[in-house]
Formats: sequence, structure tokens, C-alpha cells
Amino acid sequence: MFSDASYYFRRAAQVMGIGERVQRLLEKPQRIVKVEIVVELDSGDLGTYTGYRVQHNRARGPCKGGLRYHPTLDEDHCCELASLMTWKTAVADLPFGGAKGGIDCDPTKLSLREVERITRKFVSEIHEIIGPTVDIPAPDVNTNAQIMAWIMTEYSRFHGFSPAVVTGKPIELHGALGREEATGLGVTFAIRELCARKGLDLAAQTYAIQGFGNVGSHLARHLHERGGKVIAISDVGAALHNRDGLDIPALLEHFARTRSLAGFPGAEPMSRDELIFTECDVLVPAALGEVFTKENAHLVRAKMIVEAANAPTTPEADEVFDRRGVVVVPDILANAGGVIVSYFEWTQNIQQFRWELEDTHKRLERYMGKAFRTVWDLATSRGISMRTAAYVVAIGRVGKATVLSGV
Ligand code: NAD
Repeated sequence: MFSDASYYFRRAAQVMGIGERVQRLLEKPQRIVKVEIVVELDSGDLGTYTGYRVQHNRARGPCKGGLRYHPTLDEDHCCELASLMTWKTAVADLPFGGAKGGIDCDPTKLSLREVERITRKFVSEIHEIIGPTVDIPAPDVNTNAQIMAWIMTEYSRFHGFSPAVVTGKPIELHGALGREEATGLGVTFAIRELCARKGLDLAAQTYAIQGFGNVGSHLARHLHERGGKVIAISDVGAALHNRDGLDIPALLEHFARTRSLAGFPGAEPMSRDELIFTECDVLVPAALGEVFTKENAHLVRAKMIVEAANAPTTPEADEVFDRRGVVVVPDILANAGGVIVSYFEWTQNIQQFRWELEDTHKRLERYMGKAFRTVWDLATSRGISMRTAAYVVAIGRVGKATVLSGV
């Protein structure tokens, strides 16, 4: 239980000199809810699923975190992901705690109506422990704006009109402009800050990106628009390489047409699993967890790694990168753009006032810049890695809020 996130938490807690009892207080989830969901399937059979909502810590505000629909989802995984959300919201200095949850169903094997029935039943089971001032879910793996819309309307049946109960909603139903590209754009801001600190120009760097989904595709576009040279990119089906830089607008157009990276004329194909060993300045994992392990970390040739994916680096790989002087911008900082814009959506819903897209971009830039500077300054002044510094900042903020609220 708690695996990698727990290791990083404990390592930072040691640097801070936090005792065992306080560590336990900050590490354990405050509430774990598990519900059985029984629905009638289209075939007339009964489908039974288990739903989870783990609220890790609410010292700094209502809990915030995604809902994922995946057959392998279990309580331990929700606990680990919920704790990551506590540290992520704290690093970004958002007035939220951390949560995660979901259902152990496989939406690829269900009809849209079945997913809707499962979602509404789940909400009817958990509506008393979520809410705009309690716990605000969001999309995650295999969940999307449509599912958030069902959650909002089902919750509103019990509690009255409540758009702020969930974020990542469709624009037509109280969603925020800019939410979809937020994580990719936030990663771009993190890269720009990193380059500035190291005296480098973002436009003069070469980039390799693993993943061409929501995060990877928006990141590639934003880097390209700023003059960055994306020389390699992969998804689950293919990988491409071009030393002179890929034409990202043409690649996006190709992908929209064919739903595949394969067959793009402006690049050479490469082995999907070799992408992380590409010689480049900045490597961005934007697909899976546990990509870098003790078996492969020494083969990575990038000078900097910016973690757009959640938990792509195992503790053993992290030590290898530390030893080799590879700078790693950790997930809880690098990919915070999504939850930052979720926070903007929540504030807009509460005020019943929609911001312009440029307001969102400007504010996202400010939040990412401030979080990056705080972590960077601590890392350089204390001689610790950016990951440990990010955890130290987060644990310090959550710890102070806990003490001030008078446990
Ligand atoms: P997505 O499902 O839209 O895209 C995932 C991409 O990864 C796809 O292009 C897929 O083909 C690719 N992929 C899967 N297996 C691969 C493999 N073996 N090799 C190369 N590519 C592979 O997901 P996303 O929303 O872009 O999220 C990507 C990562 O970023 C995840 O780790 C997620 O937890 C994290 N993240 C996402 C957000 C967000 O706002 N979407 C926020 C924070 C963190």
C-alpha cells in the first residue's frame, strides 16, 4: 500500500525531521468509502461493481481528485492516488485537499447507457460525502466530460442545482474554457521555468514525448508554437522520429484523420519502447506510470525529465537520475495544470461567472510559475532534488493547516 508515493513522502518527512506519529497522521487517508453498485445491464442481467472514494486529507479545503473507471481499480490504488492529490494541490497552493475514487468497471465493454446507469447509481450511493464544499470529483482514466455531466445532474437531484460539485464538465454545462488543454499547457510553463533557471532557451531545446493523448498532444502543440523542436513522439500503437523536428500541426491533422501516428510522412518510424532512450534535451513521459525503473534509468540519455504522467519514475530510477545529475521535475508539480484549471472551474461555478480563455491562461501561468519557483528555490538552497523539495513544500503546507485548525 502507498508504494512509491509513500516512499517519496517519507523521504521528504525525514529531511523535515517529522516524527513517526505525525508522519502517520499525514499519510493515512481520512476517509475511505466503498460501495456496491448493482444495475440492470442492457441484456437484462444484473451487473455488480464496486465503487470507491478515498478522501486523503482535507486540512486545506474540500477534497479534490479524479474518478477512474478501470477493472483493476482497488482500494489501495485509490489511497495512493488520493495522497498524490493532497501533495499536488498543496504544491500548487490551491485551497483543496486530496481525493481519488472510481469504479472497477470496464467501460470499453459497456454501452453508453450502461455507463450512465452505473454512474448515477454510484452518485446515489456517495452523494452525502461529496459536494462543492466537501469533495469535488473530476475526470480521470476512462471518465470524461459526459460522465461529469451525469454526476452533476444526479447530485443536483438530491441537493439542488450544484455545478460546483464536479469539474471537467462540458463547456455547455458549466465547464471552464481551457480545461482540456490545461495539463499540457501547464507542463509547457514548467518547461519554460526550468529552461529559464538553467539559462536555456525553450526554443533551442529538443524534446521527446511519450504519449499523444490529451496531455501529450497539447504539450507537443504548445512546445511547437513556442519554437521547441519535438524530435520524437509515441503512443500505444506507434512511435515517430525526426532529428530536424516533427511538423506538429501536420501530425495533429494526420492523427485526427487516421486516429494513428503510423503512416505520418514527415518522420521515420521507431520502436515504441525505445522512445525513452532518445538522445534529447527534455524527455516528457505523458502516458503511463512506472516507465523509469532500475533496469532502464541508466539508459536514458535526456538531460532533463519533466513528468507529465502520474508516477512515471520508481524510487530506484529516481536515485539513478539523482546520481547522474538528470534534473527531474516531479509529477506533483509538472502536471498540476489540470487541477489548477479545475480549481478555476470550481470558482467560476460558485460565482456563476465565466472567465475568458485568456484569463485562464494568464492565471495558469502565474500559478505554475509560482509553484515552480518555490520548489526550485528550496531545492537549490537545501541541495535536495526537486521531487523532495516539492514534497517538503506540500507537507509543510498541509502540516501547518492541520496544526492551525487545532487537531
Ligand atoms: P490519454 O488517455 O488521453 O492519453 C494517453 C496516451 O498514452 C495515449 O496517446 C496512448 O496511446 C499513450 N500510451 C499508452 N500506452 C503507451 C505506451 N506503452 N507507450 C507509449 N504511449 C502509450 O491520457 P492523458 O489524459 O493524456 O494522461 C496521460 C498521463 O498524464 C497519465 O499518466 C495521467 O494520469 C496524467 N495526467 C493527466 C492529466 C489530465 O488532465 N489529462 C492531469 C494530470 C496527470
